[in-house]
Amino acid sequence: MNSRLILIPLLLSAILASASAALAQDKGSVDPKPLPPLANPKDPKLGAKELFGRKVLPAAMPTHVIGFYAKGCIAGAEALPINGDTWQVMRLSRNRNWAHPDMVALLERLSAKVHKEAGWPGILIGDMSQPRGGPMITGHASHQVGLDADVWLTPMPDRRLSREEREEVSAVMMVRADRLDVDPAVWTPGHLIMIRAAAQEPSVQRIFVNAAIKKALCREAKGDRSWLGKIRPMYGHDYHFHIRIKCPPGSKECESQPDPESGEGCSAADFAFWFKDSTIHPKPSTEPPKPHPGITLAQLPAACRKVLAAPDAKQ
Ligand SMILES: [Zn+2]
Repeated sequence: MNSRLILIPLLLSAILASASAALAQDKGSVDPKPLPPLANPKDPKLGAKELFGRKVLPAAMPTHVIGFYAKGCIAGAEALPINGDTWQVMRLSRNRNWAHPDMVALLERLSAKVHKEAGWPGILIGDMSQPRGGPMITGHASHQVGLDADVWLTPMPDRRLSREEREEVSAVMMVRADRLDVDPAVWTPGHLIMIRAAAQEPSVQRIFVNAAIKKALCREAKGDRSWLGKIRPMYGHDYHFHIRIKCPPGSKECESQPDPESGEGCSAADFAFWFKDSTIHPKPSTEPPKPHPGITLAQLPAACRKVLAAPDAKQ
């Protein structure tokens, strides 16, 4: 079965009405409404997310990463099939199961390892990138170049999920109510095995998790602990973890990020910021957030204009 064919009629998510982030637990629809055509697609002030969000298929160009995780695009992206022996893709309505082939291969490999070593049936995959990468209408500043992927912290069930379930099922909250540690009722040794397996992949540069999850990993990791340095506390990431790989070899237009500084990042000083009260309980802002068009096409690397203009890749 060609999963890409199924995805073609599915345009962007039904969460369109919400200007807030498309979080792992946000629901989608099995019958998403296509985005309306743009009145003025050449408007220089238009957010590039409006253009990239309307591309349903990758550019028919050789695979090629352009720009930075939070400011770029990808040509010739590959789809992760929506079903594998040891993985299933969630929120299909978002059409974000696209990435550099190295990331697709990594997720397939990781899922097999998690099945074998953690004893899970497999993994659930959240957002990767759009077919041509670029900024997104909902959620994520990064995920623009096909080198980022979200994996749910909820084991894959031992059966194939329906389309409805893939839109509706929620990921499990892993963080305890006081935000200072994981919830022991849901955190398992398999979680450490899965995150460690991802971090030990040589191409993985960073993994983002909630600080409480990093704290649990620091406490529980036995033997080789060198991988802990790749685990970076980040806001959100209570329900999923985020894998970021380095620029693939030979990607001349890919803008790399420096490796995380050395060390495990497990000291009290490393956690001080994340566990202080003002971080855990930020003051709600008094003003409603202003809608922002986000980065424009002119602000992206020039080569992203070619990616956007290229014909659809044949599926
Ligand atoms: Zn992410």
